[in-house]
Amino acid sequence: MTKKTIGCDNCYRMGYMIEKKGDLSFARICDCVLRCRECNGSGSVLSKNEKAYIYISNCKVCGVRRRNVKLYNLAGVPAKYSTVLQVDTFRPKAKNESQQYALSYAKDFVKKYPNKKGFLFMGKAGLGKTHLAIGAISELTLEKGIRCVFKDFFHLLSELKEAYSQGTPENEVLLPLIETEVLVIDELGKGRSSEWELNILDQLISKRYNASKITLITTNYVSEDNKQKKGSGHSSQNEDQETLENRVGSRIASRLREMCEFIPIEGDDYRRTFQKSV
Ligand SMILES: [Zn+2]
Ligand SMILES: [Zn+2]
Repeated sequence: MTKKTIGCDNCYRMGYMIEKKGDLSFARICDCVLRCRECNGSGSVLSKNEKAYIYISNCKVCGVRRRNVKLYNLAGVPAKYSTVLQVDTFRPKAKNESQQYALSYAKDFVKKYPNKKGFLFMGKAGLGKTHLAIGAISELTLEKGIRCVFKDFFHLLSELKEAYSQGTPENEVLLPLIETEVLVIDELGKGRSSEWELNILDQLISKRYNASKITLITTNYVSEDNKQKKGSGHSSQNEDQETLENRVGSRIASRLREMCEFIPIEGDDYRRTFQKSV
């Protein structure tokens, strides 16, 4: 008897295809899974336990694939990252050691999940911070069946504001972010945050911290100590650059330090490289 597996040439044996659906990236179950012979495409089978009780269980052939695809779709991966299904899709620039280190940390994080600290990538836009974070949660959902949520910080603040103006309890916005196993907060510190917003962010981070849940962060702001380190060699424009501590407060920043490995990513953004070469 041949081993029952899923996958066909259309889905490159993955059992799903990735599409864009509005603003989000969406994994669609392939027809080969929907035709699974083990469960006649229903996703579940009737099984008998040792006392001959009959119960419904997930199909052993396609059940995991279906569940993981659902998890990916619940994670809220933005459509522009629909091709980023693995950390390894990130290509560090030659000789950029900080990008190479960030890549190796993210790969190791996924491999050892949940036994390695989360990460906080800090640095200018366009250096791959979000790419790496998305790669990590794509792998965690699709390959390991871990519940993950991606949240843009600025977007989170507007959702909170909207909930407040409509009289909806803020917990409706926060609960999925508190409960998920892995949370990505993208572009932490972006935009102006009020005392009230930072207070809510503090609650979110504290609850995840107390529950020992992993949080991954990207931010365009560097931490205080990193700024000092960089500033000591050459007194450049670093002086007036705001720090993460300025943006979110030292209480949140120090809690994040306990939860995440702070990893600076350096390099020139596209515009500056371009100007130099012409
Ligand atoms: Zn297929
Ligand atoms: Zn099946």
